[in-house]
Amino acid sequence: MPIQVLSEEVIAQIAAGEVIERPASVVKELIENALDAQARNIRITINGSGQRLIRVGDDGLGIPADEAELAFTRHATSKLKTANDLSTIETLGFRGEALASIAAVSRVSLTSRHHTESKGITLRLEGSALIDRRIVGAPMGTVLAIENLFFNTPARLKFLKAENTEKRQIASVITRYAMAYPEVRFSLEQDGREVFRSNGTGQLADVLVAALGLDTFKNMIEVSSENPPRDEHEIHVSGYTSLPSVQRTDRTRITLFINGRWVQDSGLSYAVIQAYHTFLMKGRYPVAVIMVSLPPDQLDVNVHPAKSEVRFQDPNAVFSAVQRAVRRALIDTPQPGGLQTGRTFSLGDWGSSSPQHTENTWQTEMNLEMDTPGAYPQQYAHHGPNGGSTDSDPTAIPYDASAPARPRTLPMLRVVGQVGASYIVAEGPAGLYLVDQHAAHERILYEQFMMDYARQAPMAQFTLSAQTINLPAPEARLIEENLEALQVVGFKLEAFGTNTFIIRSIPAMLADEEPVAAISGILEELEQGRSPGQASIEEKIIQRVCKQAAVKAGTVLSLEEMQGIIRQLERCQSPLTCPHGRPTMLHMSSDTLAREFGRK
Ligand code: ADP
Ligand code: MG
Repeated sequence: MPIQVLSEEVIAQIAAGEVIERPASVVKELIENALDAQARNIRITINGSGQRLIRVGDDGLGIPADEAELAFTRHATSKLKTANDLSTIETLGFRGEALASIAAVSRVSLTSRHHTESKGITLRLEGSALIDRRIVGAPMGTVLAIENLFFNTPARLKFLKAENTEKRQIASVITRYAMAYPEVRFSLEQDGREVFRSNGTGQLADVLVAALGLDTFKNMIEVSSENPPRDEHEIHVSGYTSLPSVQRTDRTRITLFINGRWVQDSGLSYAVIQAYHTFLMKGRYPVAVIMVSLPPDQLDVNVHPAKSEVRFQDPNAVFSAVQRAVRRALIDTPQPGGLQTGRTFSLGDWGSSSPQHTENTWQTEMNLEMDTPGAYPQQYAHHGPNGGSTDSDPTAIPYDASAPARPRTLPMLRVVGQVGASYIVAEGPAGLYLVDQHAAHERILYEQFMMDYARQAPMAQFTLSAQTINLPAPEARLIEENLEALQVVGFKLEAFGTNTFIIRSIPAMLADEEPVAAISGILEELEQGRSPGQASIEEKIIQRVCKQAAVKAGTVLSLEEMQGIIRQLERCQSPLTCPHGRPTMLHMSSDTLAREFGRK
């Protein structure tokens, strides 16, 4: 192909791709414009994934009729004149790219009336081309309707995620802005149903109840850098962060805003995580909504077209201001079980969901009797407290005849003891075994659960009365979409008004967990979705239930309990790995031992 200059249309589409990646990016840009126009009410309407229709209406200042077309021209903006203005930018938009980009890849209609004008204007554009323009009567403010997004860029269309994923993305964009602007009323209607609303009271707490759900919000504490040290007097941190009893397995629930702008900044997320040092075990993360404000000239927002990254003049000062404010909030909050700072857990993984649980968690989580219908739990009682030294000879004790005839997949092992409250030391004919108690128990529970599932046997359930869970809209949708799969596994939930569910039952294995915490864990799993080739969604939920129910590392076990785990592991189909594929045990053969000690 000879070198040639691209057509305007292609250039516009390529440029649009940088700003408008998916329906949620359209929503983001339109909300930012409404906020820049000082709107007090922003109504968002979505059909399907947003690909068919996104409508954003606001009661802001409006666009003057004679500037309406210009608004769709690339690099046309009313928010910036000179490059100098960039250093003190206080509006969300400034690049003049959003409307042009959106118009390049969709069918747009705009109706707007500027606050100084008595008539409004309406425009229709298709792939950037103006096809209609009229003066109309209209209320003050602006309504933009975006239809058939990516109709002329089939490649982009093909890469859109499943409808529900796009819907969730849109809902999270909206909830983030609602958090950043609690004085503005936001409402989101998806397919004719209101799924989110903030009331514009100006109180972040009110928005958080709607955005995070009451159940999570109840466990949040306020963060505020009221007496900031002198050297960072211009950085202010506020917001809410969760008590250590709230734990998530990923950091996506840490939401950060810099001067009202939502940002993704792994450094600052880490500052929040660091503040929880010794409060949360390794691999567990809090829920937090943190607002940082600092003078605009200490900040560069012009890093990326989507504007979700920023650069700080003094990143360390911002980092420590955030970390300190969150830490102070945690330390100043009296905890029910006495939250001890400076307490060190030599095993980063001490396994209880909240400090008041530390003592007896294993008893509940190790309820082998309940988890194991059949002969296994009774069986290890025969071996007596010493485990029976003859265990090392697999033929010495005939396997309990009443046990289901599952083939042995490991040699019979004799439990020797426990190391670090996390690993079981066992001996077998082939040498020494070090078993990860959590991974092993997870494997055991998983195979039992999957066996019932495959047989379509009813899952053991634990029935609850009058317990409800209130969730943010995107999570509520996720539950709705998976009600059936959840029920198969033992979570019976019933819709009860917008975004609230009655919990009728949870899997019996989780009977001792806080039902709300159990469901939050499942939600994390569901959010990650299912990638092609992966297990069924039911299987994914089962994996998570087992992970939650399995005995944690850091739990001191009695000899009987350890024997119970080992006996059951010996008859698992895949005893060597946990359901996620991590090893359950290390093996050191007699040969290796002899060699290491120079006996061979
Ligand atoms: P930017 O926001 O970076 O200026 P946009 O392409 O998003 O660029 O918008 C172009 C211009 O259109 C804005 O500068 C603003 O003057 C006008 N505009 C867009 N949306 C609105 C709105 N909802 N209310 C008032 N003016 C708007
Ligand atoms: Mg804009």
